[in-house]
Amino acid sequence: MPLNKAGKPHCVNHENIAMISDKDTINVLTTATVRDDDISFDASKGALVKVFACPVCGYIELYWDKELSRRVLERRKQAPKVAEPASAVADPAHKAAEAM
Ligand SMILES: [Zn+2]
Repeated sequence: MPLNKAGKPHCVNHENIAMISDKDTINVLTTATVRDDDISFDASKGALVKVFACPVCGYIELYWDKELSRRVLERRKQAPKVAEPASAVADPAHKAAEAM
């Protein structure tokens, strides 16, 4: 990230323009799986990122929010496992019927 003399991120196209970032929002890059020319997004996986934008030209830089990601992962390790809903539990009789 290019920083100006004040240590603030600046646009690569406008060295004197400070980039803006909304500190009250969390941005996420989700993962996607491509199969047979079709794509599906998995919003439960991805990277937490900070977005910096130039208010003049719209240039954007993304940076992984390492500290927030670390805290979320730590919290997930401590949280009790959530039981799967009954409908998601495999029904052996139903599976046998599908196999026929
Ligand atoms: Zn710019």
